Formats: sequence, C-alpha cells, structure tokens
Amino acid sequence: MTRHRVTRLRTTLRERRLDALLVSSLPNIRYLTGFTGSNALCVFTATGGFFLTDTRYRDQSRAEVIGVTRTVTTKTLAAAAAERGCLDGCRRVGFESHATTYQQYRALRALFPRHSFRPTADLVEDLALVKDGRELSCIRRAVAITGQVFLDILKVIHPGSRESAVAATISYLQKMYGAERDAFETIVASGPRGALPHAHASEQKMRSGEFVTLDFGCRVGGYASDLTRTVALGRVTRRMRDIYNIVRDAQAAAIAAARPGMWAKDLDAVARRHITVAGYGKFFSHSLGHGLGLHVHERPRVSMLSTERLRSGSVITIEPGIYIPGECGVRIEDDVVLTPTGCEVLTTAPKELLTL
Ligand code: ZN
Ligand code: ZN
Repeated sequence: MTRHRVTRLRTTLRERRLDALLVSSLPNIRYLTGFTGSNALCVFTATGGFFLTDTRYRDQSRAEVIGVTRTVTTKTLAAAAAERGCLDGCRRVGFESHATTYQQYRALRALFPRHSFRPTADLVEDLALVKDGRELSCIRRAVAITGQVFLDILKVIHPGSRESAVAATISYLQKMYGAERDAFETIVASGPRGALPHAHASEQKMRSGEFVTLDFGCRVGGYASDLTRTVALGRVTRRMRDIYNIVRDAQAAAIAAARPGMWAKDLDAVARRHITVAGYGKFFSHSLGHGLGLHVHERPRVSMLSTERLRSGSVITIEPGIYIPGECGVRIEDDVVLTPTGCEVLTTAPKELLTL
C-alpha cells in the first residue's frame, strides 16, 4: 500500500521536475511509510527512499516502517541525511514549505550547499485527496466513536457543568472507545462564547437558556473525525430556535447538493445563500467545510475562495454556522464522503435541536 503511494509520489516528482522531495510533515510521513512517532524526516528520490529518526524510535520504526531505508541517529535528522548521502546525485530538491521552519531550511542550505531547494505545498496531500477502502474504514470508525461519545456526553451537560469538565470527559470517552487520541483540541462553548467559532473549553459554567456548541473528533489509524453539534440548555428564545433551524436547513441543503464534479465554492454558496436569504449572511463568518483525513484540515477547501472541484472518494465536512457576537452561536457539522452520484453522510448524531 505504501509502495503504491510512493510510486505515485515519484510520478509527481517527475512532473514537477524535482530530483527529490524532503518530507517533514508527520502525517505525510505516516501516509508514506507507516511511522506513527513524533520525530522523523523522509527523502524520496527517483529510485530511493530514506527514513530518518532518532534513537527513541529505534524499535518502533523497525516495527512500523516499510519500503524505505531506515536510519536511526543521535544527530539532527538533516545532518544524518547528509552523512547518509540521501541526496547524492540530486540537484533540484523539493521541501514541504508548510512543514519546514525557516531554521530547518537554513540548516538544509548549510548542509547541502550545492543543492537547489524548491518550496512545495501539498504534493503528498494531493495523493491523499481520494481515500481508499482502508482509509475510509478508519474514518468511519473514528466518526462512529465520536458519534457515540456525543450521545454519552449529553448526560453530563446541564446547567452548572463546566465547559472544561465536559471537554475532559469527551477526551476520556473517545479513548475508552478505542480512539488513538483526540483529533484536535475539543471546543465546548456555552452562551455568548458560542459566538467564537473556535472557543476552547473554559472554566465557565453552563447556564439555563443558553446554547452549548461542542466540536470534537478523534483519530483511528491516524484518520480523523470531526463533529459539531449545538444543544439547548433549558428553554431558549424563539430567535435562538430560528437561528438553529436556519443553520440546520442550510446544512441539509448543502448535503443534498454535494456531488463530485461540482466546484467546491458552489457548494459553499448553497449553504451561504440559504443563510443570507434568512438575513444572517454576515454572521456566517467561515468557510462551509474542509477535506478530512490524516490532517483535520486538508484539501479540498470548501470555501468561497476554493478553486477546485469535488472528487468522488474525498471526505469533506459540511459545517455552516451563525455567530451573533455577545449573544450566541450555532454550528452543525457532519463528515461526508463524496460518492459517484452525491454524498454519503458518515455522521449519525441527531440534528434536531436537543433540549437538555
Ligand atoms: Zn469541527
Ligand atoms: Zn471541521
């Protein structure tokens, strides 16, 4: 499997007229070699593949890494790559500009003064745009765990609950159900904090009459799930219920419209139009969704600015929201896989407004 991926990567290198690619993004290294640790560098050339890590990962890398020449070192990984001659015979060398610090770039230039380093973006991510059966089964499992945890967590959300305690319980339950770890820092935002689309859980206690937005996910086999639901605590106002229904209907319209071949920005427009017609357009302040896989945010972007078409086999999120500053916020997010004729919703958590 990883060999097939590396073969496709080599085709990309030829197309880009690159002699080699340095891969430093850990999710990408996992995708290409199977390594799950926290420190590694890979070099892929027209015929060679090298994996470098430090001595903490001697045994783990021996067990996990396949298809490439493995080096375990006490030096910096770039210095070990130079000593190992990984770039011998190469001139034009791509590096992952989104996963390489300026300091690392300077070190590369010093170690390989005769090579020409070229920034690249998303070369490996592009290979992962369409998921295979094994990848999809990991995502389905992660989505199922997250969905079950959502049902469980409803029992501990009530007036007086602390956002941070709810977030900690989510994390605990996801791991108890078999997740590797959380996919990202859980968002629990109650009351006016719900108007901050990325509010992390605080010490705030939840109060009756408020909305609570929960956005969380987990990883299985490295692949992420990503779920958002907004629930009501006690009686909420008519206006809050209206806002909830607008978001829910916008999300349903986007799910009904999603199909391969359409421009991703047109899918964003379906939900945005619905919210705009209802009078809340300026309160939908982020993009409709994003690709989901080894990265929580990956291609395709599903935004007004996106320039690509959706493809069958891609997994994306559909997550419109309305955020009224100082008042409340609502977001509903599902994960869907694009099928040849439309999309299949992977998320099963209920979407009618739940009152706790
Ligand atoms: Zn999310
Ligand atoms: Zn998301």
